[in-house]
Amino acid sequence: MFKRLRNLLFGSLRRQLIIGVALTITAVMALFMWGAIERQRALLLERQSEYAVALAQSVATSSAGWLQARDFYGLQEIIYAQRRYPELVYAMILDLRGRIVAHSDPARLNQFVLDLPKIDAGGISYTPYIVSRGKDLVDALSPVVLSNHQIGWVRVGLGQQTLNARLAGITRDGLVFAAAAILIGSVLVGIMGWRLTRRLYVIRQASDAIQAGDSRRRARLDGVDEAAGLARAFDDMLDTLAARDQALRLATERLQVATRAGIIGIWDWDVVKRELIWDDVMCRLYGIRHDQFAGTYDAWLSRLHAEDRSRVDQNIQEALRGEREYGLEFRVVWPDGSIRYLKAASQTIRDQSGQPLRMVGINYDLTERKQAEAELEQHRHHLEQLVRERTEQLERARDTAESANRAKSVFLSNMSHELRTPLNAILGFAQLMERDQRLPADVHHNLETINRAGRHLLALINDVLDISRIEAGRTTVQNAEFDLNDTLTGIEEMIRLRAEHKGLSFSVEHSGQLPRYVYGDANHLRQVLINLLGNAVKYTEQGRISLRLTPGADSIRFEVSDSGPGIATNDLERIFQPFYQTESGVAKGEGTGLGLTISREYVRLMGGELHVQSELQHGSVFSFSLPLPEADVPLVESRQRRVLGLEPGHPAVRILVAEDNPDNQELIASLLASTGFEVRLAGNGRRAIEIFQDWQPHFIWMDMRMPVLDGYQATQAIRALPGGNEVKIVALTASAFHEDRAAILAVGCDDMLAKPIDETRLYLLMGDLLGLRYRYADQAVSASAPSKPGNASPADLTTLPEPLRAELQAAAELLDTDAVRTIVDGMLADYPQLARLIGEWMSDYRFEKIIELCRRPEEDQR
Ligand code: ADP
Repeated sequence: MFKRLRNLLFGSLRRQLIIGVALTITAVMALFMWGAIERQRALLLERQSEYAVALAQSVATSSAGWLQARDFYGLQEIIYAQRRYPELVYAMILDLRGRIVAHSDPARLNQFVLDLPKIDAGGISYTPYIVSRGKDLVDALSPVVLSNHQIGWVRVGLGQQTLNARLAGITRDGLVFAAAAILIGSVLVGIMGWRLTRRLYVIRQASDAIQAGDSRRRARLDGVDEAAGLARAFDDMLDTLAARDQALRLATERLQVATRAGIIGIWDWDVVKRELIWDDVMCRLYGIRHDQFAGTYDAWLSRLHAEDRSRVDQNIQEALRGEREYGLEFRVVWPDGSIRYLKAASQTIRDQSGQPLRMVGINYDLTERKQAEAELEQHRHHLEQLVRERTEQLERARDTAESANRAKSVFLSNMSHELRTPLNAILGFAQLMERDQRLPADVHHNLETINRAGRHLLALINDVLDISRIEAGRTTVQNAEFDLNDTLTGIEEMIRLRAEHKGLSFSVEHSGQLPRYVYGDANHLRQVLINLLGNAVKYTEQGRISLRLTPGADSIRFEVSDSGPGIATNDLERIFQPFYQTESGVAKGEGTGLGLTISREYVRLMGGELHVQSELQHGSVFSFSLPLPEADVPLVESRQRRVLGLEPGHPAVRILVAEDNPDNQELIASLLASTGFEVRLAGNGRRAIEIFQDWQPHFIWMDMRMPVLDGYQATQAIRALPGGNEVKIVALTASAFHEDRAAILAVGCDDMLAKPIDETRLYLLMGDLLGLRYRYADQAVSASAPSKPGNASPADLTTLPEPLRAELQAAAELLDTDAVRTIVDGMLADYPQLARLIGEWMSDYRFEKIIELCRRPEEDQR
């Protein structure tokens, strides 16, 4: 009831306003009227009092004579005359004792009025006054004075009817006025309130609409007043809320989609109330319906795998204590007994004192991942097993391949040796016969064919040997300081000769200053350049060939160009393949198709790349850049000190040379004998053992490959004999490839030396192992020259200047009798003995000997 009344009165702002304004106007009007009436009443009372006093005084004045004369009748007349005043209540004249001598009400005559003021003897009062002023009556008293003596009193009572009537009128007017004011005020306030609340009402309506679900609704009030401002603020607030609401809804949606899609269950545990709330996904993850879950911690724990419970519980307790956040993997058991792997993660929410309030977290399924991991592990295991097996197979295959490769190397080395020797003879004699003018022309023609074919075969053998070395990975770079100038000069001379022979112009151009001494592999560089320039000469029929060198920073670019037939684009890469020859290459009938393969590998080994640019009919350019840093110290052959013999008074040194090759026997024997060693020779292993037993040599040069008993067996046998451990044995290896150094040392050799024999190394090895003291050429003035006429040592070939030696080697390799003869002729002045020696060998067509002895020792050790 009270509520309804309150709603009725204050339910709307407008009503409140109207009631408020009406009450205010009423209160103001009441106060105003009360004041006005009171003021009017006081004024009227005052006037009534003055009138009463004046009336009393006037009656006193008019009645004085009558009273003196005691004419009571006359006095009564005067009093009666006063009744004309409508408000007169009473009028009376009293004598000094207070007796009423005349009265408007004759019944009161002769009564006494006792409340008169006392008059002192002789005292007199002249001033009339009001005795009392009441609500209904004003009582005025005036003395009756005659000749300065008071003789009596006049008392007048005036009523208040007029006054009250006027006051009532005023009050009535006031009330009417107030009511009008309240009415007008209320109407005005009502209108104002309506205007005001109408705008607020719009906001209210918008608010109601939004509450009802119309989130797009806005108040949208125009104007600049507070209501419009409020509406704008309201709309802005709604916009902000809508945006936030939208973002929140999206985020919630995303979260829901993500958790559902990712099958992520969300749980919320109220630690204080001990309530555990799950979402739908959680129930799915545990394989139960919502109504099957009791919503407590224990109910959850009971669904975990028994083995995982205590671990999980411990983790949760630690999380509650704040030692860590809860998060681990565990297993749950579904009602059907199947086991699933879950992962949990959570955050603990705490109050200000750090006490845990809630724990909110997620669960997701790991079962498939676990299964995949297990499968992966199985596959990995299987794969490892496969890899192991495959590796073993590959290792076996590699071992087989390596041993096959070794066998191939040995075979090639043997074959090349075996092929070259008879080929030397065939070619030599064929060339000799070619000079025989007595033979008929057709025989000459046949001989030419034999020569050409033989040279081709020889080049093929050399190239095959090189390529096998490369393939076997036995070709390494032997870097050393060398005289670039010398090397280039040698090559230039050789090529110039051939070029001029064909009528081609040949030029060597340098751009910039070339370093004289550089650090690199002179031998490989020479071989590559000779091959490229050789090809240029070979394939160019007319025009020019050139070698251009461009120095760079620690490198040099080489460019071999010619004006030959050029190479077709589709052949450009193929020409580097082994045995590939272009049509013009095949047509030439020379070459092996291996030169470029070898060259490219050598350039790569030296740190460069061989490129070709060519176009049919427009010549070819082969180019490569090599790192060739300038060297401070040139390699000088004086590094090797020439041994003249043992020091005077040196005890005798017995050397056994076990070697089946007579040339080598002879070479070593003559070297050793010339320097004062005692030497004996053995042609096979068995003979070596016999001589060892008889003669007890200090040192044995043991060829590893000999008939009857080879070097390995002989060494082992000697080591087993008395004194066999004291003797020094050094293996001589003839193969183009290294024999297995480890195997050689294992049978008891102290060291090894590769053939062809390098004199300096020969002396060094013996000196080191036996502790010998030598006499050297640069210290012994009286020593005889090493190459006196008729006594030239084969090893002296290594003392020839590098370019000359290279030229000789190249000519010998090509079995080019004419070229060798030209070189030998040129040598006659400076190296007469060597020239004669080579001449002799050439007469016997022992080119191989020339080649072997021209090779620098390190070259053969590769
Ligand atoms: P070959 O022993 O045949 O010269 P190479 O490997 O040196 O073997 O060269 C392979 C082929 O490349 C040659 O047969 C030849 O056809 C071609 N070739 C090489 N150099 C040149 C050149 N300067 N001009 C034209 N063709 C060339």
